[in-house]
Amino acid sequence: MLDRLTDLILFRYTNQGKDNNSEPKPYITTGSIIWGALIRTALIVVVSWVIVEYFELRDYWMVVLMVIVGLVIYPAYSQYSHFTGRIEVLQDETMCGTCKHFDPTSQLCRIYDEHVSTTYIPCEGNSWEPAHYDDKE
Ligand code: SF4
Repeated sequence: MLDRLTDLILFRYTNQGKDNNSEPKPYITTGSIIWGALIRTALIVVVSWVIVEYFELRDYWMVVLMVIVGLVIYPAYSQYSHFTGRIEVLQDETMCGTCKHFDPTSQLCRIYDEHVSTTYIPCEGNSWEPAHYDDKE
């Protein structure tokens, strides 16, 4: 059903098994997490606005805040931790992890503009350049 409602609004719990370092295209990314947080927040604001106006529950705005924490902030943080943990493993397992052209926040090779995985190194080692401490700052 619409790929399980776009994997339950992008935090992608239902298909988390697909998110591994050997997939050529990453499944969970910082982009999907940010989109998920924005869409979930918008949905919660709209739905709670309607409910608050209809039932005149203006004194219970704290509940909306707690719903946002429980359904947006905490799951987004949890998925981001999952993502960064997976990228750390990817960096240990591939030569891209030590290359100055690798962008860990998007799992991309900056010069080829392609995703890196344990099964696909876009340059096949030909464009590798060592990352310096200055590059990581
Ligand atoms: S230049 Fe090659 S080694 Fe460096 S990040 Fe890109 S694909 Fe990986």
